[in-house]
Amino acid sequence: RLEKVRGEIEFKNVWFAYRDDGEVISEDDWILKNVSFKINKGEKVAIVGATGSGKSTIINLICRFYDIQKGQILIDGIDIKRIDERDLRKHIAVVLQDVLLFSGDILTNITLGNGEIPIEKVIEASKLIGADKFIEKLPNGYFEVVQERGANLSVGEKQLISFVRALVYDPKILILDEATSSVDVETERIIQGAIEKLLENRTAIIIAHRLSTIQNSDKIIVLHKGEVREIGTHEEL
Ligand code: ATP
Ligand code: MG
Repeated sequence: RLEKVRGEIEFKNVWFAYRDDGEVISEDDWILKNVSFKINKGEKVAIVGATGSGKSTIINLICRFYDIQKGQILIDGIDIKRIDERDLRKHIAVVLQDVLLFSGDILTNITLGNGEIPIEKVIEASKLIGADKFIEKLPNGYFEVVQERGANLSVGEKQLISFVRALVYDPKILILDEATSSVDVETERIIQGAIEKLLENRTAIIIAHRLSTIQNSDKIIVLHKGEVREIGTHEEL
């Protein structure tokens, strides 16, 4: 069981291929090849690399959506194979590029239907993120119904909702797949500030697209065709 999580993540010589149906894996199938890195408690790490280099795959593996073929993935020194998946996911919040919203009100989209989360906590998190302004402008505020896939909200608003959701769950580990879609300057500023808030006091892995995010991270992992090419700070690389 994972009770108190410090939020250390380590990849030790990880080899991974998506095909694991008992077929022999050929050289070309390896999506991650001997990937090793260590992320300390509270560190902000950016992962960069060309499309297809394996960035999202690393995230899939940390969440244990797939099992690896060789090597080890450790959280706080514990092999994630030995951690209950639901237990693991309680400590990790993932904010993806394409925000998944469902039909239901804003509140439910933030709490994911967990009735134990008081609305006060949701409002507080919305204020910290800077989402409260647009939510309160909606005719029904937090009870405004979100249409299928969030059709009645802008891209930026959907992102902000997903940030509030992550903050409400207050995980020790935050994974952020930074969105590439363009938003207006004002929204960009709000999102920028929201990301900073979200990263406070937790270990964060960010698939970074913004130069500012890369510059502000403690470490940058450069992936190239499934291999770690370099690890260092922005100044070092
Ligand atoms: P992008 O910048 O485009 O998001 P990425 O670095 O996140 O790229 P991944 O999504 O990790 O790249 O993909 C790495 C490789 O794994 C790609 O060649 C991709 O086609 C393959 N791949 C990704 N997901 C799957 C899957 N579910 N099944 C099979 N192959 C996959
Ligand atoms: Mg990706």
